[in-house]
Amino acid sequence: MTRKVDVAVIGSGASGSVLTYELARRGASVVVLEAGAREDPTTFVHHEAAMLPRLYKSGGLQTTRDNDLAIGQGRTVGGSTVINNAIWLRAKLDRILPAWKDAGATVPKSSIEAAYEELERVLHVEPLPPDLANKGTNLFLKGCENAGVPARYLNHNRKQCTGCGWCNYGCQYNRKTSMLVTFIPWAEALGAEVLDRCDDVRIQTQGKQAKKVTCYRNGEEVTVEAGKVVVCAGAIGSSAVLLQSGIDLDQRVGKGLHVLGGALMSAEAPEPVDGFDGIGLTCVACASDSYVIETYFAPPLVFAIGMSGWFLTHFRRMMRFAYYSNAGVMVGTQPTGTVSLDKKKRVRIDLKFSKDEIAELKKGLRRLAEIYFAGGAVRVIPATYKDIAFETPDDIDQLDEKVHRPDDLLLGSGHPQGGNRMNEDPKKGVVGNDFRVHGFDNLFVADASVFPTNIWANCQATVMAMAHYAATFVAA
Ligand SMILES: Cc1cc2nc3c(=O)[nH]c(=O)nc-3n(C[C@H](O)[C@H](O)[C@H](O)COP(=O)(O)OP(=O)(O)OC[C@H]3O[C@@H](n4cnc5c(N)ncnc54)[C@H](O)[C@@H]3O)c2cc1C
Ligand code: SF4
Repeated sequence: MTRKVDVAVIGSGASGSVLTYELARRGASVVVLEAGAREDPTTFVHHEAAMLPRLYKSGGLQTTRDNDLAIGQGRTVGGSTVINNAIWLRAKLDRILPAWKDAGATVPKSSIEAAYEELERVLHVEPLPPDLANKGTNLFLKGCENAGVPARYLNHNRKQCTGCGWCNYGCQYNRKTSMLVTFIPWAEALGAEVLDRCDDVRIQTQGKQAKKVTCYRNGEEVTVEAGKVVVCAGAIGSSAVLLQSGIDLDQRVGKGLHVLGGALMSAEAPEPVDGFDGIGLTCVACASDSYVIETYFAPPLVFAIGMSGWFLTHFRRMMRFAYYSNAGVMVGTQPTGTVSLDKKKRVRIDLKFSKDEIAELKKGLRRLAEIYFAGGAVRVIPATYKDIAFETPDDIDQLDEKVHRPDDLLLGSGHPQGGNRMNEDPKKGVVGNDFRVHGFDNLFVADASVFPTNIWANCQATVMAMAHYAATFVAA
């Protein structure tokens, strides 16, 4: 099967969907090649074990090579937006864009702000109504107030949400304005075509030209001859596609991976708070610029993974599931990670939290424990390897005794970035300020992988805004 189009887009997540729509709107013919399956949201179920393999890359078990860091990403039409928490947070551009400039990437603030505004209008972004939050949120907010830490409800992209709290496993009610139910169908209405379950996607190049994209679908080879190719397979995925296509730009592809990630903490309340009843990720505490504290809650399987303690201790804690609130502490890591291929061309991820990053994370966990005790928690438990449970604020010092290295904590991230960093110097980056891959006329990357340094915010808003901005260059 061969198709001829103006643009082939690889990946249909936050970036790929917005970009495809923007190109289709300008009259381009576009084919999207997506590795994951197209799902019918009405078949989603409130069952973690059923949904993780359907919607997550590696069934939710993607980790760094040393297994110290779990990295969640979507693998379905709509990408990670299908499984994300629908929190809409603009990056602090006055902090981020100067750092990007120092790293060799120039992005105009006005373009990103204009894109944020347009996206917020069409994706129904509004302040999260407190009545959708789970009761555990009250413990957190009371603690912030008593501890003198400013906190606020976040913005979200949901419409007439029922507050069931199952966003991380796909919204069966179509209340989250994910790409699956917004930009994808909008782009298709303008003539774009989305091919799901595309295996072994490769870009075939000749000199400075990307000539075509090939893949296998249902066992059949598919060839897309395209005037331009845009890689939007997400951080890690986009570096992998380039490397698997033999494009490594003197080993710059895959370098500079970073995450906004960290560890969870659970707080036991004196009375049941039924954390599963309502939305968990609702609020942020503005405690510091060097770590981020956000509330969270997970259904039993993922909650159990984040709960420390072994055997009977773990069992007893899980029996008190209804009494727990959750929040996470995250830091934006330095761009020191790498994506590479092993001899069998399988993807390897290497990223280690540095000593300083672990130290900041510990400061954040300490602050969060203080917040929870100030809110009335009777026990606070960080997600650590060695069992630690704080029964009083004095116990918080155990963190310093028992947490030293990355694998002393259960580290996780849903916000990988970098790997194909933007830098106008062709010797230092993978793409230039116009998202074009250095050395190519018609090959672009336009997703979270181009972020040269960490954006210190939940990523979807900025990923979409950057893709919106990238469309101008791809269409030109
Ligand atoms: C559990 C979870 C919760 C999150 N919650 C929030 C939140 O509340 N707010 C927020 O701002 N951000 C959140 N995020 C992050 C946010 O969703 C992502 O930053 C954003 O979607 C990244 O966009 P992207 O286009 O770079 O990648 P993605 O959206 O991940 O899309 C990449 C797409 O490319 C496809 N792909 C990968 N490799 C290939 C290949 N070889 N061939 C073809 N296709 C390929 C993937 O299947 C995927 O569909 C969350 C993420 C996770 C995992
Ligand atoms: S909380 Fe709202 S957006 Fe999330 S899955 Fe439930 S209905 Fe959908």
